[in-house]
Amino acid sequence: MSSSDDTPRVPIICPECETTTRIPVDDLAESLERHNEQLHDGEDVAHIDPDIADQIQNMVAEDMGLLE
Ligand SMILES: [Zn+2]
Repeated sequence: MSSSDDTPRVPIICPECETTTRIPVDDLAESLERHNEQLHDGEDVAHIDPDIADQIQNMVAEDMGLLE
């Protein structure tokens, strides 16, 4: 399996677990939800690195051709 660059990875920060995980943007919502559900009783603890949240939105928008 080749790891290509065409799927951007997004840092997810979880202050309670003290972890930062890079998740492919395709799995982002699902992984976040699963993490919070399994480890934090469904509470919204883990979140996207706020520093790049804006960039992610741009990336996704670009990916979808919304910025053209
Ligand atoms: Zn956690």
